[in-house]
Amino acid sequence: MKHDPVSAAAPASADAGAPDPGAGNAERIADRTADTSATLIGEILNIMEQGILFWSAEGVCELHNSRIFRVLEITAKDLGIGTRRTDFRDRAVARGEMTAETRRASEAQIEAHLPYSFDRHLPSGRVVFTNGRPTRGGGYVVTFTDVTEARLAAKELARAKAEAEEAQGRAVDLLAQERDRQTEARHLSQLDEWLQSCKSLQELYAVITHFMARLLPRSQGELYIYQQGRAALGGICSWGGAELHPTIEADACWALRRGRTYEFHAGNLCFPCEHVEAPEGGGAPEEYVCVPIIAHGDTVGMLHIRFDHASDDGARIDRSGAFAIRCAEHISMAIANVKLRDELHERSIRDALTGLYNRRFFMDAIRRELAQAGRSGAPLALVAMDADNFKAFNDGHGHEAGDAVLRAIADRIAAAAGPGGIACRMGGEEFALLLPGLDAASAVTVAEDLREAVGNLQLRHLDRSLPRVTVSSGIAVAPRDGADPQALMRLADEALYRAKASGRDCVRIAGA
Ligand code: GH3
Ligand code: MG
Ligand code: MG
Repeated sequence: MKHDPVSAAAPASADAGAPDPGAGNAERIADRTADTSATLIGEILNIMEQGILFWSAEGVCELHNSRIFRVLEITAKDLGIGTRRTDFRDRAVARGEMTAETRRASEAQIEAHLPYSFDRHLPSGRVVFTNGRPTRGGGYVVTFTDVTEARLAAKELARAKAEAEEAQGRAVDLLAQERDRQTEARHLSQLDEWLQSCKSLQELYAVITHFMARLLPRSQGELYIYQQGRAALGGICSWGGAELHPTIEADACWALRRGRTYEFHAGNLCFPCEHVEAPEGGGAPEEYVCVPIIAHGDTVGMLHIRFDHASDDGARIDRSGAFAIRCAEHISMAIANVKLRDELHERSIRDALTGLYNRRFFMDAIRRELAQAGRSGAPLALVAMDADNFKAFNDGHGHEAGDAVLRAIADRIAAAAGPGGIACRMGGEEFALLLPGLDAASAVTVAEDLREAVGNLQLRHLDRSLPRVTVSSGIAVAPRDGADPQALMRLADEALYRAKASGRDCVRIAGA
């Protein structure tokens, strides 16, 4: 319905003073001017984008423009000259445009004759900013502005801002994680470099102790390695003030029993390992991990790491735990490699049948010992030994019986060598014994005792007694007979030859 509210309400314009009745021409002109300006004001008000409304001091609508119907999505039924503000507001609250709370707050402002403003949320979803300004006469001029787009944009902006902030937070986290990862990778590669340059297990253990203390500063740890026979593990090294047990039983560790890394968290449903002591005041131990050390598929030991969680958060412990496991994997690999290298080396210097050192080792050893003897001035005796008539023995009793005899002879030689001597099988039924520090007389005693010990062997093979075996020996001593390996070996062989020529089962000394 078309409505022309401004012209109807124009006389109520608060600040347009009432024309003086009974005036002359001038007054009529003034009347016309007033009419013209009221029409002009009406036109202006209707051109405005906003809804405009004037409430009298009594709270009655005295003027409004036509735009207000479209802005507030209402009709002349809802608003007209004479509409009371309370009715107008009752309807707005009923339509859900304004809350009772907003109404109370703005009415408190009106009471105090102060400006008020709030957003109306129309049923259509549009948002109308309502701005009331008091006039001098006690009324209110209210403007209604459609701010739907602006409010949406603001909401969108706030959402975008929150999203951007969240994304930035994520990026910062990722960056920190990436930096941690790079630091860990750098540390691991340093660890690897050191582990790989270790020549022995002892060196390796020293590197592990040093690195673990540095890589996991807020941790304590111990390394255990299976002892010979595999009944228990021996304590090898520790860091961070951890107390190293001399030995632990394999059954005392869940990681060893289950064959995989065991992470203990007090809060979780899990049992502590027996080798981990409970804290002094009782209760569960702190978080820890046990990592089996696996070398070429074989479990060779266990790395136990505890974390000091008093000074750190759980996330840090989880990260440290994961890093500790990676360290343990690298340590496992290094131990495996050194063990393999040691095994291969050991195999390359030992004789498979008797376990004595082989000829290759002997050649290095005699050179080394001669050089050492040269430096210290101490003598070095070489005893060359050969089983007598061994071909006949083999022919008569079989090669296997011969082998058993060679092993028995080797055991005697190893016993005669003692901790300082070097017992070798040079090949076949020939042996050599290097005796650092022994002069000719002492070497003769050792060789004679050995000859006697072999002669006294009572051996059985396949339930049959074997006949007595004997050995002949030739001795040369450095520096008395020479200081060069070849010369010394030749002289010892010559003496041995003489022993054979003298009827065997005897000892001869070079030059005698
Ligand atoms: P001689 O007293 O002069 O040393 O006589 P011999 O028979 O011991 O010497 P010879 O060099 O003629 O024979 C060495 C024999 O040693 C030949 C071989 O049957 C035996 N022999 C060499 N190596 C082994 C081995 O690994 N096991 C066994 N069972 N016999 C071996
Ligand atoms: Mg021989
Ligand atoms: Mg022989």
